[in-house]
Amino acid sequence: MTAFATSALRRGACPSLSAPMQTGDGLLVRLRPAAPALTGEDLLAFAGLAREHGNGLIEITARGNLQLRGLTEASVPRLAEGLAAAGIVPQAGVAIEIPPLSGIDPSEIADATLIADALRKAIAAASLTLAPKLAIVVDGGGVLSLADMVADIRLDALADGAGWRLSVGGDRRTARPVAVLPPERVIAGAMAVVTALAAIGPAARGRDLDAAVLAAQFGTVPEAAFSEVLPSHPLGIHYIGGESLLGIAPAYGQVQADRLAALVQGLAACGASEFRLAPHRALLVRGLSGERLAAAQACADREGFWCAETAPGRFISICAGAAGCASARFDTRAAADAVVAEAGGLLDGSLDVHISGCPKGCAHPARAAVTLCGTAAGVGFVLDGRASDAPAATLPAGDLRPAIQRIGTLLRARRMEGETAKSLIDRTAPAALISAYQGQQ
Ligand code: SF4
Repeated sequence: MTAFATSALRRGACPSLSAPMQTGDGLLVRLRPAAPALTGEDLLAFAGLAREHGNGLIEITARGNLQLRGLTEASVPRLAEGLAAAGIVPQAGVAIEIPPLSGIDPSEIADATLIADALRKAIAAASLTLAPKLAIVVDGGGVLSLADMVADIRLDALADGAGWRLSVGGDRRTARPVAVLPPERVIAGAMAVVTALAAIGPAARGRDLDAAVLAAQFGTVPEAAFSEVLPSHPLGIHYIGGESLLGIAPAYGQVQADRLAALVQGLAACGASEFRLAPHRALLVRGLSGERLAAAQACADREGFWCAETAPGRFISICAGAAGCASARFDTRAAADAVVAEAGGLLDGSLDVHISGCPKGCAHPARAAVTLCGTAAGVGFVLDGRASDAPAATLPAGDLRPAIQRIGTLLRARRMEGETAKSLIDRTAPAALISAYQGQQ
């Protein structure tokens, strides 16, 4: 039995420094620095540790966590030592998400940081056994609010600043309301829901809670008023008070350590003084004066980062692929670039495209409209399914780009004006798509 044996084999748990996850490319560690503001030195240290102890590939996840791959049982403790030496403290305990600009955005209704810290302490003190992937959102509003982030438990600041709405199982729009609480009762209220979850069992999630029963404990839930302003996407230029900041994201959420280091050095030359991880795989850059924004965007572009939410590749999920995983059968990154080049018009956000190095499907466990999956026989083509599903057709990896080109040509010719890619795929016979993939048109 190895030090990590139990946790490393449990898929669906959250991989951390103390419980890394076994993947096809060694151990994987996911972490969120406890400090929301990172310096350039922090990121350079992180890049160095990824290179030294992992395979050098760094990912920023959809929830804004950092992920390192290719670690070993021997290198994980050295990574932990290196992080401690660099002063990077990973957040411990239940994942509590707050808007990335909490505490510095003058347009936020309430600073979520204090509530999140108090709730984290209360949960730790209660010593409850909770689902490893339990997600709590404390959203104080602002330009990058978390209104669209799904969570098991949510606390949303009311627009009039009078308190917080407590709800379960969804994003701000879909979560089921449980109570409206004044600030002094918000921790006790949230803890009542956390305790109810623990009472159901160690795997219970927000969807398992009966919101009506919980609401009855608090009395009638009054109508809650929220800001009508929808949150901005983190990518692009934002203004908070008199300050401009730039949101960027590594292409497909992945960056090699050397390129991250080059990015940090290039942005430092443009005046960057602080970095914040954000949802949608983003990194927010502060300290850039208005005149240096264009130079900073050019630097990010050079190092393989996207600077605009319109980047079509955002709608493709790829795993490490041949560049970072021994299980991969082909280069997922090159395939994604081919999809963007040959069929980029279809990446309008209405459907998911998943490119997986093998049937394990690490990057997108759910179904996707289109999946390209590496198998022993070649690259499989799966429609409306998972990477583990039997492919409708399979081609050698060397024939993939022309196949993508044929599908792009077919769908462009059939598309009606203003039609979404999802509608187009839905009304196209699977046989036509499969024939195009195989070159049998
Ligand atoms: S899905 Fe990708 S990252 Fe996961 S094991 Fe397969 S090749 Fe490796």
